[in-house]
Amino acid sequence: MPAAVLVAASVLVSYVNALPSSLAGLKVYGTYIVLALGLLVSLVFRRGRVLFAVLTLTVAYVSFRFFLQSGQDKFVAYAVFSVLCLFVPFNLGALSLLKERGTFNRHGLQRLVVIVVQIAFAAWVVLSRNVTTVEWAYHPLVETGLSATSPVPQLGIAVIALCFVTSLWAWLVTRSAIDLGMAGAVAAFGIAAHGITTPNMFAVFVTAAALILMIAVLQDTFRMAFRDELTGLPSRRTLNERLAGVGRSYTVAMLDVDRFKGLNDHYGHDVGDQVLKMVAAQLAQVGGGGNAYRYGGEEFTLLFPGKSVDEALPHLEALREDIASRKLALRKSDRPARADSGKGRRGAHATDSAVSVTVSIGVAERNERLATPDGVIQAADKALYRAKSKGRNQVSR
Ligand code: GH3
Ligand code: MG
Ligand code: MG
Repeated sequence: MPAAVLVAASVLVSYVNALPSSLAGLKVYGTYIVLALGLLVSLVFRRGRVLFAVLTLTVAYVSFRFFLQSGQDKFVAYAVFSVLCLFVPFNLGALSLLKERGTFNRHGLQRLVVIVVQIAFAAWVVLSRNVTTVEWAYHPLVETGLSATSPVPQLGIAVIALCFVTSLWAWLVTRSAIDLGMAGAVAAFGIAAHGITTPNMFAVFVTAAALILMIAVLQDTFRMAFRDELTGLPSRRTLNERLAGVGRSYTVAMLDVDRFKGLNDHYGHDVGDQVLKMVAAQLAQVGGGGNAYRYGGEEFTLLFPGKSVDEALPHLEALREDIASRKLALRKSDRPARADSGKGRRGAHATDSAVSVTVSIGVAERNERLATPDGVIQAADKALYRAKSKGRNQVSR
């Protein structure tokens, strides 16, 4: 997504130059509108990290309009530009490493103070005409021809590169659309700064950065609504939407972890969560075209579109065996204090350093009698109940 926005922005730059004078206002206010929308979206969805990233971009754009574009005072322009090249990527990179802490609270205030201090620093450099500091910022790190090819000081290039790698790394760890958006915004700002002397380049790429962040918030919110946070599987809501549009032939399997309450009580909720993740990961790999969903708690659903029970059964059996044979290694702190406290628990078997679970599965298919998704799910639930009463760790139809 960020790459697509960047490509679109590159194409757009030349069109913006060709805008008729009747639309000239768009050149000036278009960026402000997108920045304002970015602020609004992050406020509404309470994404403090994006809020302060877009706020940084807004300050950068306002500074650009007032101190760079007018360009009467060379020193001011150089000073402001160097400050932007250092602080904007720094803020975006730092925000990609910080935790999401919402907007109007102590953390939000701290982040706001950082931005205000940066603005105050820039104002001090400009007002005191502190040539030494600006010269230091432009001083080349290494003597190459590079400084001649970009107006961005080498120090700025280094900070932009470092912050791009940092946010990309954050994304690789979290896989969050927001962190990828931060990386995209750093890249967009880098291009904007590099093209500062090309007409409209800065405005278009700052707009792109804000747009990337805004879309990232929407993507992340969408994911929250349709994915289960613990297991990463699609949620019950997603299942319901899918069932509403599924064809006339499908099979549903309801799956419930055996004696899970005992495992939770014995090892604690953390281990319980680990086991759910492990089970979910195996469900996600079921064969036969089955789609896995977290129905709720320790219950999961598998949907086999276009498949009959007979076709789904072998895959469910394989899944059940797979889960039963998998062992979750325990860290020392997870092990129960008393070695004999697990006695009497069946279903979940644990040795000293590993725990394993079994699952029961009930399965039903759509037919003339069971014509609605609700009916099929209820039938699968009844079959699950039979699997439990027959001794668990089995598939019933
Ligand atoms: P059965 O074999 O009959 O299914 O026994 P059970 O103990 O699995 O059944 P029960 O429904 O009584 O227990 C479900 C337990 O699952 C209750 C709750 O402690 C646990 N649980 C539900 N959701 C979560 C979760 O997200 N994380 C953890 N750790 N435990 C959960
Ligand atoms: Mg249950
Ligand atoms: Mg259970």
